[in-house]
Amino acid sequence: MENGWKGLPFRPISEFYQQRFGSKVYKIPVSVVDDCPNRRGLKGMQTCIFCDVWGSAARSESFSLGLREQIEKFKPTIGNRFKSENFLVYFQAYTNTFTKIDSLRINFETALSFPFVKGLVVGTRPDCISKSVMDLWSEYNNKTFVAVELGVQSFFDDQLEFLRRGHTGRQSIEAMEKIAKNTSVDLGIHLMFGQPGETDEQMITTANIVNSMPITNVKIHNLHVLTNTPLETLFHQGKFTPIDLPTYARRLQIFLEHLSPRIYIHRLAAMASRWEELVSPQWTRNKMETHQYLVDTLRLHGSYQSAGFLADSIQDRDQQKRLLENSLPLNTLIFKSLRKRMQEQNPVLGPT
Ligand code: SF4
Repeated sequence: MENGWKGLPFRPISEFYQQRFGSKVYKIPVSVVDDCPNRRGLKGMQTCIFCDVWGSAARSESFSLGLREQIEKFKPTIGNRFKSENFLVYFQAYTNTFTKIDSLRINFETALSFPFVKGLVVGTRPDCISKSVMDLWSEYNNKTFVAVELGVQSFFDDQLEFLRRGHTGRQSIEAMEKIAKNTSVDLGIHLMFGQPGETDEQMITTANIVNSMPITNVKIHNLHVLTNTPLETLFHQGKFTPIDLPTYARRLQIFLEHLSPRIYIHRLAAMASRWEELVSPQWTRNKMETHQYLVDTLRLHGSYQSAGFLADSIQDRDQQKRLLENSLPLNTLIFKSLRKRMQEQNPVLGPT
């Protein structure tokens, strides 16, 4: 809890982990594949417009290490930083189901051979979900915790085409339904805001679709420009302008207000894993300042996750009530000081 507030005005994923494992749990991101359908050029696909050469891996040095070495190397750093004893191994970079089932199985076994590893998280795409992949997830989900993170990014096909994702919004919806029907894994999606032509109304539509899907969590990114990506070329040609922070904060607020209180949030914005690769916008450079600005924007407007959501269950109403309380300052001085700080940071806000 931050000073002056009961808690966060949205449901952080840490809450889910605390309930599921009874303790703090952090992810160890690892890289075990270096390919995906886009980079392979299958069916005329191209590399996603925003993707750097590392396939969104958290650490580029991980590609020179085996899985065991990565876990051994990164666990102490993450554990010391967050004071955690328990971890999930997060197969993050590229498309982790775009490989042989036998390789996936060997990687799962290697990860689970560490006693501090309490489960597996697999990042993949909506069009790479085969029956054999789901069978493997189910097999491991019977003996440990398995979570799947699906790179959906958008439900709007014009945005998906701009991103060069190579799949449609309908395919993402079908993939979520297929995974929920055939497995019991924990399912979450990645979304990307700040796309060309994006509107406030699309934030509401996106939240409504998310609410209707069999998922438990969302990871939110802003579309940022990294070096050596197709998006960098467009940026330098003046054909793409990254979203500014106040606009992003407003879009995020609209999305969260319409989001069900049962959905957990991984994070509110993207941060470049390698600072030197970030071209624009500069506001994503400081992780903590950006996070605080986004949270403060919600508080300044008395806003919170699910504020505009029609809850129809007791659990949802209870969560909604708690989130409302979290959005209220413990006293008026706290609110006044927040308003002053926000106006100093962004004078266009004016009196609120
Ligand atoms: S974002 Fe994923 S699917 Fe797209 S090019 Fe990068 S690794 Fe491939």
